[in-house]
Amino acid sequence: MLNNAIVTPALLPFQELEQSVWKKETCAGCRGCITVCPANTLAFDLKLARPYQITPCIDCKACLDACPRTPANMDKLSLDIVGPYLDIKNVKANGNGRYQNGGAVTAILKAALDEGLVDRVIVMGSDRWAQKAYARIVSDPAYLDKVAGSKYTANDILEAMRDVMKDASVRNVALVGMPCTMQAVGLLRRSSNEYAAKLTQKIRFLVGLFCFECFDDTLVPEVTQRLGVPPWRIAKMNAGEGRLTVTLRNGEIKTLPLAKLAEFVKPGCRKCNDFTSKLADISVGSVGSAAGSSVVIIRTPEGAGLFEIARETGAVSVADGVDVAAIEKVGKLKLKRNGF
Ligand SMILES: Cc1cc2nc3c(=O)[nH]c(=O)nc-3n(C[C@H](O)[C@H](O)[C@H](O)COP(=O)(O)OP(=O)(O)OC[C@H]3O[C@@H](n4cnc5c(N)ncnc54)[C@H](O)[C@@H]3O)c2cc1C
Ligand code: SF4
Ligand code: SF4
Ligand code: SF4
Repeated sequence: MLNNAIVTPALLPFQELEQSVWKKETCAGCRGCITVCPANTLAFDLKLARPYQITPCIDCKACLDACPRTPANMDKLSLDIVGPYLDIKNVKANGNGRYQNGGAVTAILKAALDEGLVDRVIVMGSDRWAQKAYARIVSDPAYLDKVAGSKYTANDILEAMRDVMKDASVRNVALVGMPCTMQAVGLLRRSSNEYAAKLTQKIRFLVGLFCFECFDDTLVPEVTQRLGVPPWRIAKMNAGEGRLTVTLRNGEIKTLPLAKLAEFVKPGCRKCNDFTSKLADISVGSVGSAAGSSVVIIRTPEGAGLFEIARETGAVSVADGVDVAAIEKVGKLKLKRNGF
């Protein structure tokens, strides 16, 4: 007898992402799915702020393991604010640079390269003329001063891992990234998928930044238009305490209320459940720090080892007295705004 029941074809894994993440506008833009894919099936659409399919899928399911925004993976991620840690310190770089806060990230990464702990670090550089941000793979410690500072509009750090994976001369890397990037790598590290291991095996240290929210690519043109300054005059931008503070090369400071830039926040950032990069080895932010310092949260034995070496080599000055309650407060505000 013929079975007349209509059988719905199973969705391919990327189609599951399309249904449960992309169409719901919860994509974090972390590129975990794109980078782990062995068939180069996916690419990122900057306008839509999410991936799309470009070549056939081989149904390996690695993309599903990478994604911090599938309902199954969201359930695996805790809603703790500060997360687990071994130590928490105020940290200042013993050097001068155009740092965002105390320069802890730059100093720690320099120590990792100087001491031969890694061959490369992956950071976010920018074209200082147009203020357009893009990931950079760096082997020269001195170059890290040029890429210091927060870039509020880009998140393609993981895509740089593709080049690192192909380069047989590179054995170990340190990677800086947003909490969503740390989540994607963290999820892949827990996955038994063979392609997950390929993507993560060269990552020795994860340095995560705090992040309340990030903006789309139209932020810089909009800000320069509202302030009436060309992008190349901008030396530094800082989002915090309700305003975007723009420091110009001549030292002049201009501000815009963040509430008036809300339309440029990436949609997926409004579904984000991590403020402090809880899956990193070391997390760094400004909230709760002493003046002129960065807060450094040392989370894992690997992070503790890297931090100890940075300290021993004189790369950083370290002090106690971090205001953990202040970090909790901002983290709770983020979770509340995002519906958690
Ligand atoms: C989008 C965004 C939002 C943030 N929101 C908060 C917040 O709400 N509260 C808070 O306390 N801190 C926040 N931070 C972190 C803070 O701005 C500083 O990055 C952190 O305190 C480190 O300062 P530092 O002086 O030690 O870093 P630096 O020594 O200046 O080095 C910063 C390093 O981070 C890299 N980097 C910059 N932007 C990115 C990026 N988008 N992705 C990956 N790597 C990058 C740079 O290449 C550089 O290597 C945010 C950062 C970003 C990028
Ligand atoms: S990672 Fe695997 S399942 Fe996902 S899109 Fe690529 S080939 Fe398809
Ligand atoms: S959140 Fe990251 S892994 Fe998930 S669909 Fe978006 S880019 Fe891909
Ligand atoms: S808020 Fe920050 S960590 Fe969360 S999705 Fe946006 S860029 Fe990623």
